[in-house]
Amino acid sequence: MQIDWQNIDTVLLDMDGTLLDLHFDNYFWREHVPGIWAQQNGWSVSEAKDRLYPKFIETMGTLEWYCVDYWSEELGLDIMQHKTEVAHKIAYRPRAQAFLEKCQNESNDVRLITNAHRKVLNLKIKHTQLDQYFDQMYCSHELDYPKEQQQFWENLQALQAFDPARSLFLDDSESVLEAAECYGIGHVYSIAQPDSQNKRSEPSRFRMINEFA
Ligand SMILES: [Mg+2]
Repeated sequence: MQIDWQNIDTVLLDMDGTLLDLHFDNYFWREHVPGIWAQQNGWSVSEAKDRLYPKFIETMGTLEWYCVDYWSEELGLDIMQHKTEVAHKIAYRPRAQAFLEKCQNESNDVRLITNAHRKVLNLKIKHTQLDQYFDQMYCSHELDYPKEQQQFWENLQALQAFDPARSLFLDDSESVLEAAECYGIGHVYSIAQPDSQNKRSEPSRFRMINEFA
């Protein structure tokens, strides 16, 4: 697969599951949090999961879902402290750094756009030095809407104008990719295996990047 660099001015990249291995996040929310929440409340891990998953489903795709402060309050846990405990699991996807260097060479406008909270972004920068590859890094909390919403894209445009048709966007979330396509982003790609330890959970109707190489 060839990316049409000739017709791309702006590069917009998701972080988790696209540049970084989604395994960290999946492990944290599916294993680590249920374990410590169970321990704190005297429940079994499976009981904690049964209580937790409906809460996840309820908030999916909203800013709350991506907000560490919301989950700290909701669960009575210091989410950032617990993320820091397992931060050694934060890792790039294969060849992501080489791809980021390529983006820097091809474009003067390379932006990270993430639904992750700024506190989580800072933790990930600390462990990956991801910031060295970007002209700008935007968290959806600071744009008032998650990437799933058209208002996110309008607010991104208002912060720093870009031509959607001449923009490249990579993300591993189908609903986010659909929102980007709806906004008119011209070059949209999905990720074949966001989590190195698990098969992709849903198919994608977008072209998928298998290996950055
Ligand atoms: Mg992602």
